[in-house]
Amino acid sequence: MNIDILNRIFNEIECAKKILIVSHVNPDGDTLGTMCALKLYIGDKADTLVQTSASAGIPDTYKFLPEINLSKNLDNVENIYDLVIAVDVASIDRIVQKARVIFDNAKTTINIDHHKTNNGYGKLNWVIGDASSAGEVLYNIFKTKNIPVTKDMAECLYVSILTDTGGFRYENTKPETLETAAQLIKLGADNSDLAKKCYNNKPKNMILFQSEIISKTQFLFDDKVAIASITQKDYDKFDAKNEYTEGIAETLRTIKSVEVSAVLKENDNGCTKVSLRSDNIDVCEIVKKFNGGGHIRAAGCTIKKPLKIAEELLVCEIEKCLNL
Ligand code: AMP
Ligand code: MN
Ligand code: MN
Repeated sequence: MNIDILNRIFNEIECAKKILIVSHVNPDGDTLGTMCALKLYIGDKADTLVQTSASAGIPDTYKFLPEINLSKNLDNVENIYDLVIAVDVASIDRIVQKARVIFDNAKTTINIDHHKTNNGYGKLNWVIGDASSAGEVLYNIFKTKNIPVTKDMAECLYVSILTDTGGFRYENTKPETLETAAQLIKLGADNSDLAKKCYNNKPKNMILFQSEIISKTQFLFDDKVAIASITQKDYDKFDAKNEYTEGIAETLRTIKSVEVSAVLKENDNGCTKVSLRSDNIDVCEIVKKFNGGGHIRAAGCTIKKPLKIAEELLVCEIEKCLNL
């Protein structure tokens, strides 16, 4: 741990007059939990940006996070900040449109993350590739700097760790991860209440939408590969929000024979967003072919082709990595 970089990060936070904390696009529990915990520490001079349009809004699941209601979206964020802090943002292209201009124009930028594929796009970078989540990284920063963690901050950080470890089931769950979670519970995070809010709180249409998508899944290579493709029509039929796709790739991975599960989403700009999950294959290697990134068992990319072509290109790359 390079304490000098950490000291410079805190110096920048202290000196900055106007700070923006940025989530990644298609925000999840880790990026939002980390963002809110950091906002609770910095206070009024920090704005938070959830990278969605006003119409998409904050994902319903995470609306309970402390102070998330104060956050801005891509339509109403201000233009100028002297410090921008990206949390859980694996690569600069996960900061989009207007937010990218704000990032590029800021005097200083800080990148706090846990993706091994992160190339250090910030002026100051704090990337711990072994950590379960950006929330775990931030908790360790607070601990190193002797910063008190309030109950609200503990809840946010707990949600980060809980969701990025799939409820402490994935192999990114290390002894230190569980120790951190235990400390957060001691600091006031209500673990069973937070698990309920994150996992047992879905709208009916989300489950109906997911069951239709799952029923149309293609199984290839002796059921080793599951490909679920989602068109704009599917979204329309269920009035589905983007966040309704969360968990489909994980559900398909629970099938015994499945080594790689893929969810492909048709974007309205002719591109296809891909999510890959596996239990035993390095799917990060697969998405790197399409300039994506992430972790070995959970990775993503955007293929700049329409859905059907993206499917073919992806299947071709997956086949090369299979234990056939
Ligand atoms: P997703 O499938 O979008 O849930 O993402 C799985 C993991 O890969 C997450 O940790 C993401 O942050 C990461 N990821 C997704 N898309 C990209 C991308 N285009 N570039 C880098 N990392 C990504
Ligand atoms: Mn994330
Ligand atoms: Mn994360």
